[in-house]
Amino acid sequence: MKKRSLRELPPAALDGKRALVRVDFNVPFKDGAVTDDTRIRAAVPTIAYLREKGARVVLLSHFGRPKGPDPKASLNQIVRDVERILGTPVEFIADPAIGVATSRRLPRGGVALVENTRFWPGEEANDPGFAQTLAALGDFYVNDAFGSAHRAHASTEAVARLLRPAVTGFLMEKELRYLGEALDQPRRPFVAVLGGAKISGKIDVIQALLPKVDEILVGGAMANTFFLAIGFQVGGSLVERDKEDLAKGLLAKAGAKLILPRGAVVAPSLARAAERQEVSSDHIPADCAVFDIDRPTRLDFRARILKAKTIFWNGPMGVFETPPFDEGTRAVGEALIEAGKRGATTVVGGGDSAAAVAGLEDKLSHVSTGGGASLEFLEGKPLPGVAALEDA
Ligand code: ADP
Ligand code: MG
Repeated sequence: MKKRSLRELPPAALDGKRALVRVDFNVPFKDGAVTDDTRIRAAVPTIAYLREKGARVVLLSHFGRPKGPDPKASLNQIVRDVERILGTPVEFIADPAIGVATSRRLPRGGVALVENTRFWPGEEANDPGFAQTLAALGDFYVNDAFGSAHRAHASTEAVARLLRPAVTGFLMEKELRYLGEALDQPRRPFVAVLGGAKISGKIDVIQALLPKVDEILVGGAMANTFFLAIGFQVGGSLVERDKEDLAKGLLAKAGAKLILPRGAVVAPSLARAAERQEVSSDHIPADCAVFDIDRPTRLDFRARILKAKTIFWNGPMGVFETPPFDEGTRAVGEALIEAGKRGATTVVGGGDSAAAVAGLEDKLSHVSTGGGASLEFLEGKPLPGVAALEDA
């Protein structure tokens, strides 16, 4: 179902009005500093548009997983970063229950940030009372927090039912367009590349994608469980032995659609990278573990990706955090970019996958900011935070 977009609101609905905007400012934070401000920057188009149209902007977000009020989880700590990125002062509302006056005092184009919504138990309980408190801070609601849309919380779900108009922000709109339409009615061939640590977390994604895709290329530790299922030994590799039957079932169902790595980069341990070697998938040494896809596999995957018109990628091909085992993952990233240059639609989802292509976002059609949410969406599960918004 298509949702009403911020773009569709007439100027009069914006000018001088208070926009209550749910953003995802749940940024990585260490030793008092934001270590990656991607999520804040991702919200800029929506916030800048609202300011330009004369709206007063009140931002809502969660931050970490506090059990009640906790200075270490206060959004106060990121106000400076938000000010720097937006290029404007940001008022801090420490308690939504007494923030109405502040919201009304904001000048046109002014911005305020409300304290971490998870400080109040009503947030995760999706409590209508707490949602009403939040709703009082705005004249209309914009949800730009795709990464939080799979949770029915007061700031994502209940508030959207209370405060109308309730529309998608630009980031949310883009997520729905690429993860929804592009993958639902894909231009073919449609190739999915799946990797990462485990099959178990992604069974539903594989099941949901199988009938839609022309091919699924499997890498990462996920491939090891499939290797077991076809009778290959995997040495000391990360593998889910209890999922062997499940992998057998998926192989049978997928038939020729499922493409496994031809070979692997193996080593005795991550620390002993100098001893790494490339072996074919049916010759993984007992005293080694698989840490990446090998070169022949990179070439094979690249060729398949370059033939595709739509590519969806989730999950790294190896232990990409530890070079040189990042090479297979980087090769897939480069193949996607190359395919994009030739006109293909390229979509990347998943937290680690997004990290693997950091800095290359503008060379891909879409990099999803929502790890869990993007996978749940692909599985076909309705996202409560999206469902609660107005239909277009
Ligand atoms: P995403 O967050 O993109 O959905 P996952 O969380 O499923 O991806 O998987 C990412 C993790 O998988 C990374 O930490 C990476 O090191 C790990 N991984 C990938 N391949 C292997 C492998 N062969 N052995 C061990 N870990 C692997
Ligand atoms: Mg992950």
